[in-house]
Amino acid sequence: MRFGYNERCLEHDTGERHPENPDRLRAIRRGLAKRHGVEYAEADPATREEVVAVHDAEYVDELESFVADGGGSWDPDTVASEGTWNAALASAGLSQWAARSALDGADGRDTPFALGRPPGHHAVPDDAMGFCFFNNASVAAQTVLDDGAADRVAIFDWDVHHGNGTQDVFYDRDDVLYASIHEEGLYPDTGALDETGRDEGEETTVNLPLAAGAGDADYLYAIDEAIAPALERFDPDLLIVSAGFDAHRHDPISRMRVSSEGYALMTDQLRSVTDDIGAATAYVLEGGYGLDTLAEGVSMVHETFDGRTPVDSDEDPDEKTESLVAELRELLDL
Ligand SMILES: [Zn+2]
Repeated sequence: MRFGYNERCLEHDTGERHPENPDRLRAIRRGLAKRHGVEYAEADPATREEVVAVHDAEYVDELESFVADGGGSWDPDTVASEGTWNAALASAGLSQWAARSALDGADGRDTPFALGRPPGHHAVPDDAMGFCFFNNASVAAQTVLDDGAADRVAIFDWDVHHGNGTQDVFYDRDDVLYASIHEEGLYPDTGALDETGRDEGEETTVNLPLAAGAGDADYLYAIDEAIAPALERFDPDLLIVSAGFDAHRHDPISRMRVSSEGYALMTDQLRSVTDDIGAATAYVLEGGYGLDTLAEGVSMVHETFDGRTPVDSDEDPDEKTESLVAELRELLDL
């Protein structure tokens, strides 16, 4: 894969014991250093105007002056430092790079993956929250729509948390589909099954809140039976994968049980969906807080695009997953 990377993303300093810290990117790069076929690309930061296309100008101004004053705790979870403004623009810029280069034809071994931080999917139009300042995936989607490079963009979010921010940005829009599989009851406690969009955006939001303990078989079943048909019906020009790795069985902050191989299997499954519908693919980093499992998860996505065939699991999904998927299919007429 081609990994978008920018040193400025290390300058977002969240303090000593914060789970979302620069060591995450260092661990990913160390993991990738052992792999074949890894390439890095640089990208320009997003501009203020491009960020304001999905965020309120007042919020963006407020954040800029908060950071200029030295930063601090925006809320109990979300900490800014002097480097946060530049890091957040750089992180959004990397996701724009990923979306643009995918639509320019980068695929297969050249599939782009934006390795930015701070992450984005909790950032709502008028606020930072949940370690996120600018909604990177949303900025990227809006940018390629504004460029005229795409008419429809789908965002699939496999981070263990619901991407409330991404959902909010596009909730009433019919040109962006947002689909998420997340752990029920976890922060920020949004993303119920019946949140399916509003007005023109009706049925372009897809939420599958799986019960704690779900693993590879549940995720693969959910993608096969709910996410893939939703993507096929929407027929996007571009799929952005909001790729967090905190549903890993050894991640410290969730109770999900996805394995490293599970991330390879999901990558492979999504690739066959996008191949079928002729959509470009870009990956954008979200969460993932176990340094080893985060590095391994990213490496598994890479290896899958580099030609490694993942080993399928023989497990069956839980009955709870099957009935939830059936309910969603009925609700969305999939
Ligand atoms: Zn997360």
